[in-house]
Amino acid sequence: STSLSESGRGPPLRLAQTLSHMPEQTYEPVIGLEIHVQLKTQTKMFCASPTAYGGPPNTQVCPVCLGLPGALPTVNGRAVELGVKAALGLGATVHGTSVFARKSYFYPDLPKGYQITQHDRPLATDGAVDVPSAGGTARHVRIRRLHLEEDSGKSLHDRVEGATAIDLNRAGTPLLEIVTEPDLASPADARAFLTQLKQALAYLDVSDCNMEEGSLRVDANVSLRRPGGGEGGTRTEIKNLNTFSGIEKALAFEVERQSRVLAGGGEVRPATLLWDAARGEAREIRGKEDGGDYRYFPEPDLPPLVLEDSWIDGVRRSLPEMPAKRVARFVEEYGITPGHAAVLTGTRDLADYYEAVARCGVSCQEAANWVMGEVLAAINAQSCALPQFRVRPRDLADLIAMMDEGILSRPAARQVFARMAETGEPPAQIVGEAGLGRVADAAAVSAWVDEALAAYPAEAERLRAGDAKLSAFFVGRVMNLSGGVADPAQVNSALKEKLGG
Ligand code: ADP
Ligand code: MG
Repeated sequence: STSLSESGRGPPLRLAQTLSHMPEQTYEPVIGLEIHVQLKTQTKMFCASPTAYGGPPNTQVCPVCLGLPGALPTVNGRAVELGVKAALGLGATVHGTSVFARKSYFYPDLPKGYQITQHDRPLATDGAVDVPSAGGTARHVRIRRLHLEEDSGKSLHDRVEGATAIDLNRAGTPLLEIVTEPDLASPADARAFLTQLKQALAYLDVSDCNMEEGSLRVDANVSLRRPGGGEGGTRTEIKNLNTFSGIEKALAFEVERQSRVLAGGGEVRPATLLWDAARGEAREIRGKEDGGDYRYFPEPDLPPLVLEDSWIDGVRRSLPEMPAKRVARFVEEYGITPGHAAVLTGTRDLADYYEAVARCGVSCQEAANWVMGEVLAAINAQSCALPQFRVRPRDLADLIAMMDEGILSRPAARQVFARMAETGEPPAQIVGEAGLGRVADAAAVSAWVDEALAAYPAEAERLRAGDAKLSAFFVGRVMNLSGGVADPAQVNSALKEKLGG
């Protein structure tokens, strides 16, 4: 039970030899994440400057977010509401009183010389996300705390030759910082967790979660420990993680690096690392020891944030059904597999769409197949958001019903669907139109021909005897029976076949 931090000093030789043979079995990663989520507000956390993305530099600023002397912050109520909504949606306890604090440090993009955040009394604590794993068993990832804070500005290193420019448009943007416990055991776990978290935040509609625009940012802490628990090693923190795949790669890189350090009998030093995605490596930007002293103290310009229980309950009542619950309900209510339910609940829009189709009385499995197949393919092909998709759920249900009733074969129904996705017309209209009307399958045509022959036995007898005029009569009867969707040529050949002609 040698702790890792001692491994360089204890019995290093034997340990190093063991490690060099199978380092990946000797240690297991311990990973905890700090996620900064930009809350979906029109204006900033402590002033009325707009938060819109992509404006010309330094056009979305005011005395408050510029940190001019004498300017006083006021709290953005909408940001508080969204933060509380996120916290409740992630199962956390929202506190009736939380306290804003100053975190002081010097950096050119921090106009006031301090960030207003929350420190020892955060907005919420003790949430969790259950992350489904490939094996089927969920991993319970605890969320230690969620707190409100303001973003800093942005240093631009590529705008001005030989200098760094500062854009303060982002300074003061509302953020929710979400801190997990170190409950993740692999880079893949970390990625799966983030995928789940992002889905939850999207359901809650509290953030755009757009990593490219910086509205979801992740810092990852990682250390190694002996399998089965016990004392862990020193951790490092990786910053500048811009994509989920980048996070997974950066963590794998750092796990590998720490393994090699320990295997070589060395000691992992606390450090902050910057991930360089282009080179696929993490570089140390500072040792952790000299970071540290932020001189936190309660923000004197803001009173404690006091939230009434009844108000918190109101936010709780506004929560949507969260993904895990919705998956379970879909399995129960529509009799589809958990795998299909997981796909269909990928976003709230998709889940709403599926439910709207399934509730029209068609087969729930058939509806699932169409939504997972044709609908997803069509909205991808059109790069169209589901609410703007031209095929309304009711019309898709009608199409499925026409297929069930044998009016349309499956390939014909696909053809009709493609047209619906283009024009937004209801299926009956498309089926009735020339060309696309001739789409009934052979079995349906055969059944209509039988029906027509049975309804007019005398005429059938004359046709059988060679009276060719009557074939046009029967084609007409069948076209009528089919509501116009049968192909006349197909009807003709079916007639010939049945009458031995
Ligand atoms: P600090 O208070 O020094 O910022 P915390 O204990 O609050 O550190 O943890 C910050 C982040 O680091 C959290 O996301 C947490 O899960 C993670 N973390 C803590 N201990 C470890 C560890 N041994 N290995 C990996 N991550 C860790
Ligand atoms: Mg922070």
